[in-house]
Amino acid sequence: MQRYTLKCYDCGTEHDEQQSVTTCFKCGGQLEVYYDYEAITDRLNVQALKTAPVSAMKYLPFYPIDNYKNVYSLQEGGTPLIHAKKLGESLGLKQLFIKNEGLNPTGVFKDRGTLVEIAKARELGATAICLASTGNMAASCAAYAQIVGLPCYVLVPQGTPVGKLAQTLISGARVIQIRGTYSDCARLAQEMAKRFGYYLAGDYAFRAEGQKSQGYEIVEQLFWKSPDYVVCPVGCGTNLHGIGKGLREYLDLGFSDKMPRLVGVQTPGCNPIVDAYKRGTNQFKSVAKPNTLASAIAAGTPLDGHKVLDDIFASEGFAMEVTDDQTIAAQLNMMRLGGVFGEPSGALGVAAVEQLVSEGKLKADDTIVVIVTGNGLKDPKTPLDALPEPPSIEPDFGELESFIENKLYAIHEQLTPKAKQKVVFKTLPDQEQLHKVITKELGIEVNEHAVTEILAEVHSFMDKGKTVSKSDLVMIVEEVLDKQAVVDPLLTIVDFEINTSLHHQATAKIKVTIGGEDKQLMHSGVGPVDAAISALRDGLDGKLMAKLTDYTVNILTGDIDATVEVKMTLVDGKRNNKVVSRATSPDVIVASLKAYEKGINLLWAKIK
Ligand SMILES: *Cc1c(COP(=O)(O)O)cnc(C)c1O
Ligand SMILES: [Zn+2]
Repeated sequence: MQRYTLKCYDCGTEHDEQQSVTTCFKCGGQLEVYYDYEAITDRLNVQALKTAPVSAMKYLPFYPIDNYKNVYSLQEGGTPLIHAKKLGESLGLKQLFIKNEGLNPTGVFKDRGTLVEIAKARELGATAICLASTGNMAASCAAYAQIVGLPCYVLVPQGTPVGKLAQTLISGARVIQIRGTYSDCARLAQEMAKRFGYYLAGDYAFRAEGQKSQGYEIVEQLFWKSPDYVVCPVGCGTNLHGIGKGLREYLDLGFSDKMPRLVGVQTPGCNPIVDAYKRGTNQFKSVAKPNTLASAIAAGTPLDGHKVLDDIFASEGFAMEVTDDQTIAAQLNMMRLGGVFGEPSGALGVAAVEQLVSEGKLKADDTIVVIVTGNGLKDPKTPLDALPEPPSIEPDFGELESFIENKLYAIHEQLTPKAKQKVVFKTLPDQEQLHKVITKELGIEVNEHAVTEILAEVHSFMDKGKTVSKSDLVMIVEEVLDKQAVVDPLLTIVDFEINTSLHHQATAKIKVTIGGEDKQLMHSGVGPVDAAISALRDGLDGKLMAKLTDYTVNILTGDIDATVEVKMTLVDGKRNNKVVSRATSPDVIVASLKAYEKGINLLWAKIK
C-alpha cells in the first residue's frame, strides 16, 4: 500500500516520481509529500520510538523511502538541545534552548535532508547528481554522493566561504564557481539536470522530509512537550518548513501538546519572506542581488517560500529581520555565553531573540528553541575579520611577561569597526599629546622611547596626507612595541624611490643601512614590490638569504585612501627559521617594505 503521494503544493497536480521530484510539470511550483498517516502508524512501534535515543535514522517510517537498502547514514541528527542558561539569563529568559545543528556529520542540518534525498536518488536510479548551493548543501551532498558512488556536480556563487569549499572539494565533487548569485546557480542546475539527465538535488520535497527530524527531536528533548517558539534562519524556507511539518505531525499523532509559533529570521540584505509576511501574503517578491554576511541564507528566490509563509501564518508565528551587525554580535554572545560556535547564518536566531527581548515581546517563562543551523568552523573568515588578530612574540618569557603586565592584549580588543571611524589626530600631535592619547584611548602605558618611535610613525602616516584613526593608532603602537623586540637590526630602510608604468618594468632605488653600512641599492622587477624586494635581497646577499613564502595585502577600510595591512612569511632556508611579519601604512608599497624590513630583522635576531 502506498504511504504517500507527491503533489504540487501550488496547483495540487499529482506527480509520479518518474515524472518529476522537484518542480511541477504543469505550473512550475514546488512539489510536496502528502502521507497516509494511518499507513505510517500501523507500522510504527510507538514504544521503541518513545524510548530510543534521538537520531535521524530513528524516524525512517516518516520518510518517503520505499527501500531502506538505499539509505546510507553517517549518523545524522541526534544533536544536543542545550539549555542556554547563561545566555538566557543575560536576556531575562529562563527557558532558552539552542538546537546545535552544527554537530551534524558535515556541520549543518542539511545532512538530515541529504540522508533522505540521496536514498531517493538511488531508489529512482540516478547516475549522477547536480545541485546549486551557497556552500553547505554542496558540502553535505558531495559527502554522501561520494560514499554511495554517485558523481556530484556542484554550482556555487564565486566567493563561497572557504571551509565549505574545502569540504566540497575534498569529497571529490566537480565544483564550478558561478560569477553570479545563488539563484543564478539554481536556474543553471535545473537546466543541467534536464539536459544531462542528472538527479537534481537541493531544496525540494524529499529534502524537507528529512529535515522534519529536527521537529521530532525538539519535542522529545523537551520531554514530549512543544516549546512556545521555534526561531530559525530562513533562506529557501525548506528547513523551517520541514521543522514545522515535523512538529505538526507529532502534534497530530498525539506525541506533543501544541504547535509552537514559528519565527523565520532574515536580514535586510535578503528578506523576501519578511517582506511577504508584512504584506500578509505567501506571494514573495524575489530579491535580485542578495547582500549579507549570512551567505547561507542569501537565497533571493526562496524555493519553498510559499510553504514556509503558510506555515508561519498557520502557527501564528512571524517573520522578522536582523542586521548583519546584530548577527555578528549575536555570534559572539552565543559563543561567550552559550558555548556554541555557529556560522553567521547560524547566529541569526539568537540575534532575533535579542531583538525580541529588547522589544519586550518575549516572556521570561516562554520556552524558546533557537536553531543554530551551521557550524562556525565552516566560515572562519567572517569572525576573523571582525576580531583583532592576535599578536606574535619571540619565544622569550620576558616578552610574554611584558605582554601580560602592560596589558597589551587589551589594545587588540580596541580594533573594532567603530575604531576605524574614530579620528584621533587630524593635525600632528607633539610627544606629550601623543602620550596622553595613547593612555586615554588605548588604556595602556608605554615608555617614552616607544612614544618617540610611535610619533615618528604617526608623522609618516600624516606625511602621506591621511588623518589617523583610532585603529591606525592601535596598529602603529603594536608595530612599534613589536619592533622593540629587535635590539640590533640588520636592515634599516632609509628612503626609496620607485618608478612604475603601464608598459615598462618597475625600477627601485633604495637607500639602506645593512649591518651598519650605508648602501644604495637598485633593481628592476615585474612590479614595484618585486623591484624593491629584489633590490633588498641583493643588498643582503651573503648576510641573510630569506625566501618570501606568503604575501597578503589586506585593505582595512573601504576607500581608496584606506590603511593597508601587509603580511609576509619569510623563511631562512639555511637555518630553517620562519617568521611572519606585519606592517600597516596608507601606502601599499611602504607597508610591504616595512613588513619585509621587520621580517628580515626578526630572522636576523634569531641567528644571533
Ligand atoms: C541552508 C542554510 C540555511 C537556510 O535554510 P533554508 O532551508 O534554505 O531556509 C540556514 N543556515 C545554514 C547554516 C544553512 O546552511
Ligand atoms: Zn503545479
